[in-house]
Amino acid sequence: MELTTDYLVIGAGASGLAFADTLVAESDAEVTVVDRRPTAGGHWQDTYPFVRLHTPSAFYGVNSRALGKDRLDETGENAGYYERASGAEVQAYFADTVTELTETGRVRVLTGWEHVGAGGDGEQVREVRTGELHDVVVRRRVVDARYMEASIPATHAPPFDVAPGVRFVPINDLPAAAEDATTFAVLGSGKTAADACTWLLWNGVTPDRIRWIRPREAWFYDRRHFQPLDQVGAIVEGFALDVEAAVAATDIDDLFGRLEDSGRLMRIDTTRPPTMYRGTMLSAGELAALRQISDVVRLGRVQRIEQDRIVLDRGETPTGPDVLHVDCTALGLNNAPATPIFQPGRIVLQQVRYLSPAFNAALIGFIEARRDDDVERNRLCPPNPYPSTVADWPRMVSLTWMTEGAWLTEPDLAEWVAASRLNLLYSMPGHADEPAVSDALMRYVTNVGAAVEALRRLR
Ligand SMILES: Cc1cc2nc3c(=O)[nH]c(=O)nc-3n(C[C@H](O)[C@H](O)[C@H](O)COP(=O)(O)OP(=O)(O)OC[C@H]3O[C@@H](n4cnc5c(N)ncnc54)[C@H](O)[C@@H]3O)c2cc1C
Repeated sequence: MELTTDYLVIGAGASGLAFADTLVAESDAEVTVVDRRPTAGGHWQDTYPFVRLHTPSAFYGVNSRALGKDRLDETGENAGYYERASGAEVQAYFADTVTELTETGRVRVLTGWEHVGAGGDGEQVREVRTGELHDVVVRRRVVDARYMEASIPATHAPPFDVAPGVRFVPINDLPAAAEDATTFAVLGSGKTAADACTWLLWNGVTPDRIRWIRPREAWFYDRRHFQPLDQVGAIVEGFALDVEAAVAATDIDDLFGRLEDSGRLMRIDTTRPPTMYRGTMLSAGELAALRQISDVVRLGRVQRIEQDRIVLDRGETPTGPDVLHVDCTALGLNNAPATPIFQPGRIVLQQVRYLSPAFNAALIGFIEARRDDDVERNRLCPPNPYPSTVADWPRMVSLTWMTEGAWLTEPDLAEWVAASRLNLLYSMPGHADEPAVSDALMRYVTNVGAAVEALRRLR
């Protein structure tokens, strides 16, 4: 069978679907999306059972369809904040999104289909179930929506050996395996490891039964600053705190000290300087819970797990048959290097505005539809790699500020950004006359130019 399409999108995760959704809304293009997974939704199909979006549902997904009901949670660590969809809700949302996109008559989503590369006559895809190869004639572009593919515990191979007989599970299997475990060793420094620890604590495991193997200390945002709608002032306040810290900082340590003092960033152990910054977030309740765990092993990364000891870069720690080892060492966000987003015959979806993957994919779809020159497209969408260390903050944040400045001089783009539900500041105009919001906005606007220059010096 030979397929013909305007755009061949590789990957039906949040990025591929958000791109396709906006592209068909803004143009007459026909789009074919392929994914080797059996269903759309990307990594959410293999996520752990107690996962929730890290950010509110209000600005996640595709531009044309709301996710959730914009409810405020009344209980739990997210109490008072906007709802965050569970993994199952995200999966259902993307399934419905595929149905609606298909109903446009211009989008075809082929799951269980893998892109294998360029063939003799265009691109080649393979049906995973049968192994059958098909040619795809692409009239306009191939869209790489897997360049930033997430690495997750369920599907990654741990980069260390585990001896036979050691109780070792990905975080996905924690609920089932926890029942008959006495003690736990949680492996990893990031948000997934934090989720494993909080799940244990909230399910009655006392902190002294948890050992946290934490190679790096991390900075986390306070989730308070990522609340949309009626609480959008907190987002603007967060941006104001960023520019004020940048303008005043004398070096990277001073910058992060200021971000912490202002309440913008938080760390679990306030006696140790974090080196890790991945842009993830916690609520104050989660932070307080995690601080109860005092058995933290800081001897670098795991090299191997033997039956009676865990060998790490800089030493070892005892373990045993009663310990359930929980793997949270997958990378999560992809550290792929920057490459131009718009290339001849090809689009490579990447981060543009920081910490907004769904928004970025939709934005790139809009720019593809509304501009006809790749130099101009790339000017408006410079790639901005995901952060890993504290040194990435100045680069990533200042590039975002400069890029957003360029958008403001393009009336159609500025209008689209303002109206996009995926834009964090979507609801700001309705609150701009509130004193706290207008004050934060003024502080941001006054300082952002100097902040870009200050961060350039720091870098
Ligand atoms: C636990 C977790 C929670 C998160 N929470 C949030 C959040 O709350 N808010 C937020 O903004 N971001 C969040 N993120 C960031 C997240 O990475 C994005 O939200 C988004 O889901 C990533 O989607 P993606 O499409 O870029 O990548 P993926 O979901 O990884 O999708 C890539 C797809 O490409 C497919 N693929 C790869 N190669 C091929 C091939 N050759 N042929 C066919 N298909 C192929 C894969 O099968 C996969 O389905 C979270 C990430 C994780 C890991």
